[in-house]
Amino acid sequence: MLQAPRGTQDIYGGDMKIWRHIEDRIRAITDAYNFTEIRVPVFEHTELFLRGVGDTTDIVQKEMYTFEDKGGRSLSLRPEQTAGTARAFVERGMFNLPQPTKLFYVGPNFRYERPQEGRYRQHYQFGVELFGASSFAAEAEVISTGYELLTSLGVKDFAVHINSIGCPDCRKIYHENLKTFLGERIESLCGLCKQRFEKNPLRTLDCKTPGCKELLKSAPSVLDSLDDECRAHFEGLKSLLTRMEIPFVVDAKIVRGLDYYTRTVFEFIKDGLTVIGGGRYDGLIAQVGGPQTPGVGYGMGIERLVLLLQKQNATPEVSAGPDIFIGSMGEDAFTKAQELVYILRKSGIRAESDLLNRSVKAQMKYADKIKARFTMILGENELKENAANLKNMETGETEKTAFNELATKF
Ligand code: ATP
Ligand code: MG
Repeated sequence: MLQAPRGTQDIYGGDMKIWRHIEDRIRAITDAYNFTEIRVPVFEHTELFLRGVGDTTDIVQKEMYTFEDKGGRSLSLRPEQTAGTARAFVERGMFNLPQPTKLFYVGPNFRYERPQEGRYRQHYQFGVELFGASSFAAEAEVISTGYELLTSLGVKDFAVHINSIGCPDCRKIYHENLKTFLGERIESLCGLCKQRFEKNPLRTLDCKTPGCKELLKSAPSVLDSLDDECRAHFEGLKSLLTRMEIPFVVDAKIVRGLDYYTRTVFEFIKDGLTVIGGGRYDGLIAQVGGPQTPGVGYGMGIERLVLLLQKQNATPEVSAGPDIFIGSMGEDAFTKAQELVYILRKSGIRAESDLLNRSVKAQMKYADKIKARFTMILGENELKENAANLKNMETGETEKTAFNELATKF
């Protein structure tokens, strides 16, 4: 039997209802915040991700699906959508529009990772990108979209972790402090962190091995290396979030290793799993060839959100069956049933009929299984009278109803 590739899912049935529910909330909230949707290609030139995600990141080094097309170009399936969105911002000249530019996206990303709970090779992200504003208020606005989304979906007990990694100047100082700390303990670091020590020491703070985690508990805090401006910016964000009554915790271990991040970084965490990760990246637009433009945004894993909702039994009710099932006996009645459901459906009534030429008994069984609220069976007499008994399946009551009045009953 042919199977779906490892790390992929088919989303259907009741699960699809949860997905739709989430996407409906996403669209309602982004609309209220005046973010507009963007759809960028599922594949891009590999070069974009080398520049826009970073060629020292795990995503680019280990997780990317890269291939050569028939024209010999190196393309990659997008591992995330910030780089593509930034490319579109530059290529389409969106910096000429009134600023800020507020975009959101929903769609699949691809990463070659070891599949496990909440980790897939094709995963979906909702994300927002706000380009052209460097104020802490832009960060609070972006964070509040995520907070609204999770709370309005009924997610409980998640925490908003925020941190500031400062500007490149602050980070230079912090790198020195951190390297001194790590250098004294280099033998105790995992293999990967030994490499990170050379290339990007900040990323050791993100390490998931228990040994490194323990050791890094006493690492110097990036917050102690902030200059006055970066410190004031972070204080501004904290007091605005407080005014908005969005609870948060300051967590100096949140770094989100990519080089282009500046100042604020944040994650929404529930039971150790990050659902939303994002921050400010004032270097990104220039990195992909545009004019120096500030930006802030996040990505949210939709599968992880679905998992949370399922664990908390906060999933929406699966909607009831069709309004009416119209069964039939004989060829003429079969055709009439198709005609009637077509008319009802045009006025938005959820109508169903038999398509398998089943016996009346089998049709009624089917109507029961799909939980039709009303049923009607057509035979020779009903065709003559242009009317039939409409049966309420819950109460068992029947009411003779003319075909041309059927639509008024719903
Ligand atoms: P992690 O540390 O869990 O690997 P990440 O830092 O790689 O996350 P980002 O690149 O910031 O994640 O992506 C943003 C969000 O997308 C994550 O917080 C998560 O919810 C989701 N996500 C990332 N990778 C996957 C994946 N392989 N499967 C499912 N969801 C994912
Ligand atoms: Mg990852």
